[in-house]
Amino acid sequence: MAFRPSISLAWPRPRSREARDRVRAALVQSGFDFPARKITVNLAPADLPKESGRFDLPIALGVLAATGQIPPNRLAEYEFAGELALTGELRPIRGALAMLLSARASGRIFVLPEASAREAALVSTDKVLQARSLLAVCAHLTERQRLPYAEPELEPQAVDYPDLADVKGQAGARRALEVAAAGGHSLLMSGPPGTGKSMLAQRLPGILPPMTEAEALESAALQSLHGAFRVSTWKQRPFRGPHHSASSVALVGGGSNPRPGEISLAHHGVLFLDELPEFDRKALEVLREPLESGRITISRAARQADFPARFQLVAAMNPCPCGFLGDPSGRCRCTPEQVMRYRCP
Ligand SMILES: [Zn+2]
Repeated sequence: MAFRPSISLAWPRPRSREARDRVRAALVQSGFDFPARKITVNLAPADLPKESGRFDLPIALGVLAATGQIPPNRLAEYEFAGELALTGELRPIRGALAMLLSARASGRIFVLPEASAREAALVSTDKVLQARSLLAVCAHLTERQRLPYAEPELEPQAVDYPDLADVKGQAGARRALEVAAAGGHSLLMSGPPGTGKSMLAQRLPGILPPMTEAEALESAALQSLHGAFRVSTWKQRPFRGPHHSASSVALVGGGSNPRPGEISLAHHGVLFLDELPEFDRKALEVLREPLESGRITISRAARQADFPARFQLVAAMNPCPCGFLGDPSGRCRCTPEQVMRYRCP
């Protein structure tokens, strides 16, 4: 195969240099030749972000195929992703589960680093091969040693939620939670500090219906994109309780390479906003769209990202700035104006 390279990497410079250094070191450490010529690696389309080291493995295999060190004919059967350590070992990547979920209809076989492969195998066990190193991938492609299919890392376990039975008394609030759970309603709890508003909210996921397989996969894919997926939370309805100081990007998602925010991490689960009036007004306004549509669209200069965000909203607040309005002790000294401003900022 002719090898006509010249380098024009279409990703941010420092990243491309890191990737180039990793790929070169991994190839040399694995006993391959790194060509002394100039190499072009064309990552198209150019306007998509190439963040993370997921392209290391495909770049390394491209160099090997182009220089005749592995047969190029079998590469087309597979999708490869993985970051290379300088030693040629493969490191896990973010979002493996989401990647498989969106591309499983293609019918192609994925070759992924071990930890990522076990995560992606939750989507499909017969589409994911797991590899420990660049050498192992090459051994597979030259049919010296086949890579094993990945097994999802799942021990059968009961989903464990905080139990509503832990709450003593509070009959009215418990009834409200049950009604909210049954009808999928949002809920606002108002009451003095220390009356168990958070404790009650945490017990909503446990009285919601069990997650379906499709819901669990969507939820896991969003956690995986955020880099926070843990197999131990598989099929567990998420409960997210961001602090009121959370930025609007943290709450709804965003960033230069948009990532899901709290509302998407709460997809198919509960978003709990404690001390609702303390949240940034603009951030709360952004919740309108997902509350109606179950999705959030994040627009950045060149690109748009669309994430699912179908959550059940539970909010809590004090009745007044000091929290003791209506308390029989009469300790609340808040003026009617202060109370109004607190409730309707
Ligand atoms: Zn007060």
